[in-house]
Amino acid sequence: MKKILIIDDEALIRKMLGKLFEKNGYEVLAAHNGNQGIQLFKDHDPDLVVTDLIMPEKEGMETIRDIRKLNPEVKIIAISGGGVVDPELYLTLARKFGAQYSFSKPIDNEKLLLAVKALLTP
Ligand SMILES: [Mg+2]
Repeated sequence: MKKILIIDDEALIRKMLGKLFEKNGYEVLAAHNGNQGIQLFKDHDPDLVVTDLIMPEKEGMETIRDIRKLNPEVKIIAISGGGVVDPELYLTLARKFGAQYSFSKPIDNEKLLLAVKALLTP
């Protein structure tokens, strides 16, 4: 079973995405910030990471960069509602940092799932 690590400071998003992925046959791990996410990444070696970009303590861009250092092959999807900066700008930047796909909140579940399936299908 493919493993997906969700990193988001919003409990509701973690819950929603977790249900979506489990319903579709994936094993799910969830972290509430980048530090916890990196730890779970090291411990469980997931196949794909879905990370928020704006988070307290350790934000998403740094998290993506660190995960890329640990594993250049792992698939990464960035999600963001933005903040002070235009969300599109953040998401473009996330792709430069190594995310294959990026989505702005509110998340379109169908599109996200298609991206996940595309990335995890050999
Ligand atoms: Mg956030």
